[in-house]
Amino acid sequence: MTIVYAKVDREMCIACGLCQMLAPTLFSYDADGIASYQPDSNTGSVPLDAAQQVAFKIAYRRCPTHAITRSDQPFSADQG
Ligand code: SF4
Repeated sequence: MTIVYAKVDREMCIACGLCQMLAPTLFSYDADGIASYQPDSNTGSVPLDAAQQVAFKIAYRRCPTHAITRSDQPFSADQG
């Protein structure tokens, strides 16, 4: 199984609400509706739970602005 780290590029997010609808345990929103990756407070430092991989993949593919990013390694602190 591939290890996946994820992070929302908040500057690309248009607050459409889709990712939270598709994967409610993975994405949350601030007061302006801009999404963040919930499991690690959008730091990209904690691997995606295997049980959430399908939901993540759907949200990742359907984000209209491709604001959801993924990597097989942890994101560094200055990314996104
Ligand atoms: S689907 Fe993409 S654009 Fe829409 S709220 Fe989520 S991250 Fe933002």
